[in-house]
Amino acid sequence: MKERRTRQLTAVYDVVSAAHDHPTAEEVHARVRRRLPRVSLGTVYRNLQKLAAQRQVRVVHLAERTARYDGMVENHDHFVCEPCGAVTDLPRSESVALPCAPLTKAGYGVHAHAVTFYGVCPDCAVTRPRPHRRRRARAARPAATARREQEHQGAGK
Ligand SMILES: [Zn+2]
Ligand SMILES: [Zn+2]
Repeated sequence: MKERRTRQLTAVYDVVSAAHDHPTAEEVHARVRRRLPRVSLGTVYRNLQKLAAQRQVRVVHLAERTARYDGMVENHDHFVCEPCGAVTDLPRSESVALPCAPLTKAGYGVHAHAVTFYGVCPDCAVTRPRPHRRRRARAARPAATARREQEHQGAGK
């Protein structure tokens, strides 16, 4: 039993750390099943929680409510493509430093912060035809509306 548990945890960890697309729990489940066909979504979910608690994977919440899992545990930011939904890691050098001092002064324990940029990825900007008027109007907006999202990894535990 213990051995099986370890194998499942390892499989979940392998899937998340090999993925660069920030999969949801369901997507992780589908990939783990290629290796362990009988594993349940509940088991995968519990293992994701365990790995997140051990900070071996990160949990990211982007615009939607669904949690996504990230094998990149260092602080980093994300770019979300609005047309295709691709989530890209932004390298450190492009990260924006946020002033945390006012928060910590107010008594918040800040463990991490992340900025999420929204816009159009290079693939969509080049290859997507825009046949509809509405689309064209949409594309005329400023490309990257950078909304800021504070993430508190492991806060409130
Ligand atoms: Zn895209
Ligand atoms: Zn990421």
